[in-house]
Formats: sequence, C-alpha cells, structure tokens
Amino acid sequence: MSRTLVRRLHSVYDVCVVGGGHAGVEAAAAAARMGCRTLLVTQKAQKIGEMSCNPSFGGIGKGHLIREIDALDGLCARICDLSGIHFRVLNKRKGPAVWGLRAQIDRDLYRKHIQEEIYNTPNLEVREETVEDLVLSDNVVGGIVTGSGKSIQSATVVITTGTFLRGEIHVGLDTFQAGRKGDEPSTGLSQTLKEAGFTLGRLKTGTPPRLDGSTIDFSVCSEQPGDDLPMPFSFLNDEPKIEGDQLPCYMTHTNEKTHGIIRDSLHLNKHVREEVKGPRYCPSIESKVLRFGNRFHQVWLEPEGRQTEVIYPQGLSCTMPEEIQLQMIQTIQGLENVAMTQPGYGVEYDFIDPRQLRLSLETKRINGLFLAGQINGTTGYEEAAAQGIMAGINAALHVQEKPSFVLDRADGYVGVLIDDLVMRGTSEPYRMFTSRAEYRLLLRPDNADVRLTQKGFNFGCVSNRRMKRFLETESSLHQGLDLLNSIQLSSSEWKDKLDRNVTQDGRKRSAFQMLAHSNVSVDLLAKCFPAQLGPLATNRHLAARLESEGKYRPMLKRQEQEIKLFRRDNSLVLPENLDYDSLQFISKEARDRLSAIQPQTLGAASRIDGVSPAAIVSLLRHVKRYSKVSNRCQNRSPVHSAESSPTSRQRE
Ligand code: FAD
Repeated sequence: MSRTLVRRLHSVYDVCVVGGGHAGVEAAAAAARMGCRTLLVTQKAQKIGEMSCNPSFGGIGKGHLIREIDALDGLCARICDLSGIHFRVLNKRKGPAVWGLRAQIDRDLYRKHIQEEIYNTPNLEVREETVEDLVLSDNVVGGIVTGSGKSIQSATVVITTGTFLRGEIHVGLDTFQAGRKGDEPSTGLSQTLKEAGFTLGRLKTGTPPRLDGSTIDFSVCSEQPGDDLPMPFSFLNDEPKIEGDQLPCYMTHTNEKTHGIIRDSLHLNKHVREEVKGPRYCPSIESKVLRFGNRFHQVWLEPEGRQTEVIYPQGLSCTMPEEIQLQMIQTIQGLENVAMTQPGYGVEYDFIDPRQLRLSLETKRINGLFLAGQINGTTGYEEAAAQGIMAGINAALHVQEKPSFVLDRADGYVGVLIDDLVMRGTSEPYRMFTSRAEYRLLLRPDNADVRLTQKGFNFGCVSNRRMKRFLETESSLHQGLDLLNSIQLSSSEWKDKLDRNVTQDGRKRSAFQMLAHSNVSVDLLAKCFPAQLGPLATNRHLAARLESEGKYRPMLKRQEQEIKLFRRDNSLVLPENLDYDSLQFISKEARDRLSAIQPQTLGAASRIDGVSPAAIVSLLRHVKRYSKVSNRCQNRSPVHSAESSPTSRQRE
C-alpha cells in the first residue's frame, strides 16, 4: 500500500486548508468539489472571504486570472457578479486579448456570498482556530496542531496565511504585532516552517486610510461611471447581478502641498525604509513621491459598498502618523473637509521563497504540504485565488494518487504566475500583468473556458452544470463559425458590401476572415447579411467571442508554432537525481541555481535567472547522453514528456 494511501486511511481529513482568505476559500472549495474530505481552519470564521485592502477585483492581467479560475469552477468570478457595484473593462482601446475586466465590489456582500458558498459546499467543514504547528514525520505532513493544542490529522495540508506570518503593522513610528488590522499574527507556523528548513523572506504592503464619503465634495472631482453594458466575470452569467444603478467612482489628484507634507514627515515613518520591499505596482504615496515627486498622482475615490458611506482612496496607501495622514489628505481637491474613518497602515510579514515549491505548489521539502497565496510572495486577491484553486486541486489529486495538474505558460496566466514564482522566485510582492505572458493572443479572457473547463472536468473539479453550459457555448461558437465561413465573396464583392479596401488578389474570403480587418465587426457583417448573420449579432457575448477569434486567428497560426517549440523543450523531463555540481561545463552560478531549484524540465531550467542559453544547450546534450547510458543500463528512459510523467516524479 502506498504511503499516501496509508496516510489517507489514518487521517480524519484528506485536505486541510489553513486560512480563509482568497487562496484558502478557492483551495478548500476545489478539494471538496473533487470529493475530498476537506477542512478549512481559519482564525475568524466571520472574516472568511474578507477583502483586506481594495474593494475591487480584476484589472489588467488580474481579470485574466479571474476568468481562468472561473473556467475551473472557482468561486471569485461568480461572487463578484453577485457583489459588484461598478463594472468597467480597462484597456478597451487595445485588443480584447489584453482587456482587463474590473469591478468595484461591495465588501460586505462579497464576504456574505463567499461564506454562503463555503458553508453550503458538500465535503467541506469549517473550524475557527489558529494553526500553530504542523504534524510532520520524515518530511511528510500528517496534519495540523491548533492553538488549543489539538492535533488534527489530514493527508495533505494547504497553507494560505497571507500577510499573517510574523505580521507586524506600522503606523508612523508605532509598531505592533498583527496579520492585518484587528487580527493576530501567525508566529507559531512561521517558526515551524523555519525549523523545517524553509527559506523565509520579508515583504511589506500597505493600505490607505478610509474616508467618510459624506464629507467629500465630489462635485469638484471627475466622475467615472461604470460601463453601460457591464461585462460579467463568470462564464456562467450573461449579466452581472447588480442591485440598482451602478455607483460611480471619482478621480482627484495630489498636489505640491500634499507632497510637501509627505516629504516633511518621512522621519516619522518606519514603514518607508527600503530594506524590506513593498509592492512596486501598487506603491504607497510616500514611495511615489520619493520616486516620482515631480508629478502629481491620481487618487481614485471608490465606494466600498451600497450600505456604507465609506470611500476607499485608491492611490493614497500610506503609513505616516494618523494626524499627518489627515493633514495630507485634506490638501487634496474635494477632500478639504474630509473625515477619516480609519487610518492607513503598513504590514510587514514573512513569505516563503516560492522556489522551494514544485509546479503543483507542493513544497519540495515536505511531502503533502502545499502553499498558496501571499505566503508565496504575491500580492492581490486574484493572484492568491489562482494559486489557491491550483493548490486545492493538486492536494486532492495527491490524495487520490493521480497525476498533478500543472498548467504551462501556454495554457494560461495561472501557468505563467506559478512558473514565474517557482522558477524565478521574487524579491518584491509579485502581481500579474499581461506583459508577463508570452502567448497573449491565445491566453485571452474570452476563451479561458475553451482552454481550461474540459481539463478541470476531467478530474472532477468542474461541475456538470458548468460543463453543460460550456458545451452549449462551444456548440454556439462552432455554429457561428460555420455561418461566418459559409459566406464567401471575392475581394471586389467585399469591397462593394463593406465599402472597405480589400487586397485584390482574386481569392475568395469568408465573412470570418473579414473579421481580421479593423472595423469589421459581427454587427457590420450582420447588417450586410441579415438573414444568415442577424441572430449572431443579437447575442453580444457570442458576437464578441467570434470577433476576437476572427481578429487573432491569422496571428495565432504563428503563435501556435512557437507554442509547439516551447512545449517540445518544456516537456523534456530532467533526471531526478541529476548532480548539477558535477557538470563542470556549466558556470558555477548556473550550477548553484539549478541545484537549488532542481527544475523538473529543460524548459523550466531555461527560465531560471542566471542560466544562460549556452548552459541549456550543454545541459540538453548531457541529458541526452545520460538518457542513452541509462537506457542501456535499465532499458528505460528517464527522458519523457512531462505530460505523460507519473503524478509527481518527485513524489517518493
Ligand atoms: P489573506 O486574504 O490575507 O487570508 C489569510 C487568511 O489566513 C486569513 O483568513 C487569516 O485569518 C488566516 N490565517 C492566518 N494565519 C492563520 C493561522 N495560523 N491559522 C488559521 N488561520 C490563519 N493587495 C493588492 O493587490 N494591493 C494592495 O495594495 C494590497 N494592500 C494590502 C494591504 C494590507 C494591509 C493587507 C493586509 C493586504 C493587502 N493586499 C493588497 C493584499 C491582499 O489582501 C492579499 O493579496 C490577499 O488577501 C491575499 O490572499 P491570501 O488568501 O493569500 O491571504
């Protein structure tokens, strides 16, 4: 009997998830959907699904992650559709491949709906406790130990403790231990991980003060309404469920006076020191003034919900003393008489160097232990949720003794995120951007279901309901494509129909091919052929997807070729026991990095910083030679496709 099976039989739970934040809820729900006896242990049950910082989800790159989580039947997209108060697609001037779905979310509603979902998920129990330690034996996890000294057995454990590991809050020069305002830090678990041999680092982040909206003069700020036709986050929905009108956001700016107060108070601000890295892409106002003090900065005034006056001033994250925060804010147009409901603060915390993880998010050091979310050095709800669902799925697959589910860089942004973390690590809070992905034309938010839903269904993470919906969508897409392809005209006929110049090469082109031309839309084609294409234009989601497909199809052909080459290299599995130190033909720096990370594939090795293309070619030659010798000795090859490799070749 295998060790995992023995552990499973002796455990009360298959999967125990520590932490009920954005990674934790996705991990727990995914494992439970896959039929595992799952326990979610979190410090405060009423804070499950809490949005610690901004009242919004999505954005550029992050919107892609949400769609991919949704395609695997995750929670956050559906819950955003139930809790959103303002929906807007960012980057609309660019192509749909890089659009960023974003929504302002009602914090209370989000938490309420997530909790309803969690409490109504079969196979999932919730326990309110702090986890202080892990049950470990011979580098295999066997459960958790809670603050009350209780030991709970579980075949796998997923830790998703966010900013809580040795969390320390800063306001001005004041410092106190906390994972988040009002919440205890997690010190025991941090100690356990350190003693188990993990390398920990320190990162920081911050949140702005909250403002009383009734004291703001919005009339002098620029108003930003939501989109007229709000785009839902979830593939299950045709529209988001918005109760009443969308609420507007407003924009104002910092000015010289604001910057003066910030500069003059730096000596009263413990958080701004640079030894610990903060989020480069969501920086504090202090960092922005220090780095780009010669220009003024936008401040977005965002509502936190329908039943509250509280406004979140995005762009004003700060950690100076409370009274100075107020002075600083009152210099800003529209905020001259503002009252603060809560000061801004910074938090500094331990994270685990993610290079100690496998692509499945299982730790290399401890079998059955998975890490997901901010603990791995990321920032943001979406990045956390994406890792959460993958860790939950892989913990379940581990228990079921099935192959790990690993997405590569051509499968999705989730694959890019995890590959970046595991291969390159991070020295500052990592957030997703579209620029991090190589295959952007393929990895679009509109086709995440085509890329992932069937895969998730195959191992039981996607419900029948979602699969049915997906199959219906797929069938409508095929029918739409057939219709568009059935209309074939010559260049001159298209010129007459559309009043646009089309290359006169004597070839016929289909209506689908015409979508590759700028300003040719399904709407326009439907006007030319109302009988055949009229029904397509009435379904805005279908029309948008067909347009997106048509726009990118010619370029995708080239990208598909690149992906083939990438996958060929990426799938070459490196021998498990490779002694990198003995490979003298590779530089010492590259050998050290390869030894530390132990990449699973040649592709993974090539993405490690400090490993040059020349080193990769030498490594490839060595592995091929090794493979031949090994074949002769054992009559079996260690070099095989990652896709066909057993669960985790790394698992003993
Ligand atoms: P969290 O959502 O933090 O959830 C962690 C959960 O683990 C909590 O429920 C906690 O109670 C529980 N927990 C912790 N320790 C234990 C334990 N030992 N036992 C049991 N349960 C435990 N993101 C941005 O994108 N931009 C920002 O500007 C930004 N600013 C932030 C500012 C602050 C002050 C904070 C706190 C967070 C900020 N974030 C920001 C980060 C965002 O909140 C996180 O990225 C996201 O919530 C991480 O999700 P997570 O699931 O990893 O952790």
